[in-house]
Amino acid sequence: MDPAILTVPRLEKIPGLVHGFGTRRFGPAELRRVAAGHRAGVALLEQIHSDIVRVIKRPPSGKLTGDALATGTPGLFLAVKTADCLPILIADVKGRAVAAVHAGWRGTALGIAGWAALTLVHEFGLNPAGLVAALGPSVGASCCEVGEDVRRRFTDEDSGEEFFRPRTGRPGKYLFDLAAANAAHLEAAGVRRANIIRDGRCTHCRPEFHSFRRDRDPRRRLYNFIGLVQGPGPVA
Ligand SMILES: [Zn+2]
Repeated sequence: MDPAILTVPRLEKIPGLVHGFGTRRFGPAELRRVAAGHRAGVALLEQIHSDIVRVIKRPPSGKLTGDALATGTPGLFLAVKTADCLPILIADVKGRAVAAVHAGWRGTALGIAGWAALTLVHEFGLNPAGLVAALGPSVGASCCEVGEDVRRRFTDEDSGEEFFRPRTGRPGKYLFDLAAANAAHLEAAGVRRANIIRDGRCTHCRPEFHSFRRDRDPRRRLYNFIGLVQGPGPVA
């Protein structure tokens, strides 16, 4: 059977780090179970397609809005929900701080991935060259049709054209490479290209993932998480 979560070898090597990109078989109950097994709490955001990065030390007591979480505190799993949007998990190679990012096209246009990396750098005194960023499954460039309005949000400045391909036979429509745009923003924030890992699986094409573009059901979300743990290994 396929695993319920996908992990990234580069992140698995980091001491005290636990992470995963969820498939459709990994819901909120499974997330809480994994966290409890590591004596960790779970932090989720009210996601609003913004560029807001929240630095936290404990699970929020009420609703917390934003689209990225960062922490240096062990015992806290940061989680983001996606269904075609791109989940990004970022960690310091020495396991000193982590971040989880929800990047749809709106958050990407605002540069949220770069802000999350810079937040880790400034809040925790880290070198961006020591960050590893994993880009999880999301709608792929062949399945992500957008209009001129979206393209214009990215191409007002000097760059951005490279993330869009005109769609043959569909005037005014483009195929958008969401992961490439976020990778570029991470690199601009100082993350080394070699430390940016792309999963590349398309949520729209592959049935093991939820896809809003395919299913049109806002309740179906993938749960993606990263956290630092300490002390003895997981409890049974
Ligand atoms: Zn696809």
